[in-house]
Amino acid sequence: MTDSEVGNVPAVGRPHIEPGKLFIDGQWCEANAKGRRDVTDPSTGKVITTVAEADASDVDAAVAAARKAFGAWAQTSGRERARILHRVADIIRRREDEIVAVESVDVGKPVSLCRAVDVATTAEIYEYYSGLAQSIQGATRHIPIPSHAYTRREPLGVVGAITPFNFPLILSSTKIAAALAAGNAVVHKPAEDTPLSALLMAEILAEAGVPDGVLNVVTGGGAEVGKALLSHPGIDKIAFTGSTAVGRYAAATAGEALKPVTMELGGNAAQIVFEDADLDKAIGSVIKGFVFNTGQFCMGGPRLLVHRSLYDTVLEILAGAVAGVPVGDPFDPATVVGPMAAERHLAKVEEYVRLATEEGGRIVTGGERLDLGGGYFYKPTVIAGLDDASRVVQEEIFGPVLTVQPFDTEDEAVAMANGTPYGLAAGLQTTDLARAHRVAARLEAGIVWVNDWAMLDPAIPFGGVKQSGYGREYGPEALESYTKVKSVVIAL
Ligand code: NAD
Repeated sequence: MTDSEVGNVPAVGRPHIEPGKLFIDGQWCEANAKGRRDVTDPSTGKVITTVAEADASDVDAAVAAARKAFGAWAQTSGRERARILHRVADIIRRREDEIVAVESVDVGKPVSLCRAVDVATTAEIYEYYSGLAQSIQGATRHIPIPSHAYTRREPLGVVGAITPFNFPLILSSTKIAAALAAGNAVVHKPAEDTPLSALLMAEILAEAGVPDGVLNVVTGGGAEVGKALLSHPGIDKIAFTGSTAVGRYAAATAGEALKPVTMELGGNAAQIVFEDADLDKAIGSVIKGFVFNTGQFCMGGPRLLVHRSLYDTVLEILAGAVAGVPVGDPFDPATVVGPMAAERHLAKVEEYVRLATEEGGRIVTGGERLDLGGGYFYKPTVIAGLDDASRVVQEEIFGPVLTVQPFDTEDEAVAMANGTPYGLAAGLQTTDLARAHRVAARLEAGIVWVNDWAMLDPAIPFGGVKQSGYGREYGPEALESYTKVKSVVIAL
């Protein structure tokens, strides 16, 4: 093993990555059953390294380590935890090139975006929760009984964090930073396809002074490691981000054990372009909304609803602009769209585009793989002519695919935007301030953006309604979800 548990990484070249181990109780260890899982570079389709494949017995060990560490960690002052979390942010910035390279090769993220978004945001998340770690407080309540009555906010205990493949760094950090700030210990299970940055972050948190056992990382399959976490008696909360289908199972399983859960699930957001929109800005926002992270973005906007008066114009502009988006090697700084993160995600996109033509859709641009030397590349695709009932409109595709539908009235736009089972994000383009507020209030979504897309910050909570889940990431709301309230009433 080198300095870094996942390898020495040149600035922004493809890194050489050493095989990864589990991180339990501050130690790197093999899985009990000695299993290994391949990790693939999605831009070449080649195996780049392996990670340990854990099973339920490794989860037991990680949970035991977390339980052992929890007591002392919960007793540290918020200020001490803040210092440590702030050091994490500093180390992320110092080791930025290395993290960018690992995350990019693992997920297929363009290095320029990975640096500006994933890595920069991850540092900001730790910085933000470092601040909040010092602000945890209860309240004094004045009641008629002669007493001194107050509430305390206490950590929950051990959190099981289960994360998806698409934003490994950011989505694990939202959970780990908030949970640790509140004084919890964590067992983290990253996604099978993209586990590498979780191991690198374990090393960084240890370097920052997070005590042994406070963060444990167990790589492995959902059905084995994830499932073991959901029902483990030593886990006090499940923080899950992933698909609605797995989330439904996870919520039911954790619910059976009466564990609190947060469920950050699938999305299928609409971007509404009203007739009074600033069209140049709107087009940029629309394209960003569906190609960002190769469309593997829960809060992406894959459904464009455009006022009928602009419909033909918008389609014409999109046809040219989308075809010109640079797709290619994530390690080329000019690349905007990289490959899909895994072959199976690419296959799913192909299947939906095939279905779109069956359902009467017309491919305006894209609609096929891009052959770039064995990687999982797909051309950003725009599809017109589908109606609301179409499966391609209703379901989450999770790839660089945009459907475009016309509407006539504000009421119709709102009904179409709200007309799927999901409710994670939504957006609108308008120059009418009153309309912006009016429509934002009517959209069924955890976050609404006006005149841009994906404006996110650790201070702004996000999360879902309807089949997109419940609970919030980011903001003080997330911190609170990692605490429980105790009331103390002292007779006077
Ligand atoms: P997924 O549901 O397949 O997997 C998510 C995690 O759950 C992985 O770590 C996986 O190993 C684990 N898992 C799988 N089966 C399990 C089981 N039986 N028990 C316990 N854990 C299990 O999701 P994915 O394909 O990795 O990610 C894409 C999905 O995540 C999309 O639907 C996307 O919208 C959603 N997502 C949501 C948000 C959000 O904030 N709401 C953010 C990112 C992604």
